[in-house]
Amino acid sequence: MNDRPVSLVTGAGRGIGRGIALELARLGHAVVINYAGNMDAALECLQLVREAGGDGITVRADVSSTEDRERLVDETLGAYGRIDLLVNNAGVAPSVRDDLLEAGEESFDRLININLKGPYFLTQRVARRMIRQVQSGDVKAFGSPRIVTISSISAYTASVNRGDYCVAKAGLAMMTRLFAARLAEFGINVYEIRPGVIATDMTAGVKEKYDTLIAQGAWPIRRWGEPSDIGRAVAAIARGDFPYSTGEVINVDGGFHLRTL
Ligand code: NAD
Repeated sequence: MNDRPVSLVTGAGRGIGRGIALELARLGHAVVINYAGNMDAALECLQLVREAGGDGITVRADVSSTEDRERLVDETLGAYGRIDLLVNNAGVAPSVRDDLLEAGEESFDRLININLKGPYFLTQRVARRMIRQVQSGDVKAFGSPRIVTISSISAYTASVNRGDYCVAKAGLAMMTRLFAARLAEFGINVYEIRPGVIATDMTAGVKEKYDTLIAQGAWPIRRWGEPSDIGRAVAAIARGDFPYSTGEVINVDGGFHLRTL
C-alpha cells in the first residue's frame, strides 16, 4: 500500500527532470520517472531517488505519441492508483539552429509535437484523472493535485535561430493559463516554471557562448542555473506553498527577465 504522494515527471532520466525527481524524493514522493530511450539513465535516477528518501518506477514513453501517453498514465495508475503532481518537463532543442528565414517544417513539427502537443494532451489526460480523484475525496495524501510545466525564457525571448523552440515554449505559457482557468473549480492549481540557462546536456554544446555571456553580466545572478534550482521551485509547489496562486509563472532564471538600464 503506497501512502506517498505520487509525482509523474516526464523526461526525468537526466538534466532538469532528474533534478526535479531528486527534490521530490527528498519530500518523500513516489516518482514516476518517464524516459524516452536511455533506460540506464532512468534506472540511475531511480537509484538516486531511493537514496534521497523517495521511491518510484521508471516508464519508457515518448510524450509525442498518443499511445505512449496513454500507457504512461495507465502504468502510473497501475503502480500507485493516483497522480498527485504532474511535471511536464520533457523537451528537445532543435537538432540544428537554423535561421528563421531558412528553418524547415520537419524541425518545426518535431518541436511542436514533443514540446507542446505532447504536454498539452498529457495534461488533458492526467487532469481528467485528477478531477475524478478530487471528486471521490481522495486528496488526503497530498491535498489537491497540482500540475507544473517547465517552459523556458524562450516563451518570451525571440531567438531567431530557433523559432520552432520559441513558438512551442510560448504555447506552453498559454497552455498553463488555459488549464489553470479550467481546473480551478476542482482545486487543481497549475503553474509554469521558466528556467533560464541551466547546465544540462541540452546546453553543453553552447557552453562557451554562455560562459562568456555570464562573465559579461547578461543576467544579474552571474552563474549557470543548476537542475536543483528548478527542482527546488517544483518542490515548493509540491509542498503546497502557493495555495492561492494558479496560472502563475515562476521565473528561475538568475534574473534574466529583468530589464535593466
Ligand atoms: P535534457 O536534454 O538534458 O533532458 C531532456 C529530457 O527529456 C531527456 O531525459 C530526454 O530523454 C527527455 N525527452 C526528450 N524527448 C522526449 C520525448 N519525446 N518523450 C519523453 N522524454 C523525452 O534537457 P534539459 O535541459 O534537462 O531540459 C528539460 C526541459 O527544460 C526541457 O523542456 C527544456 O526545453 C527545458 N529548458 C531547459 C533549459 C536549459 O538551459 N537547459 C532552459 C529552459 C528550459
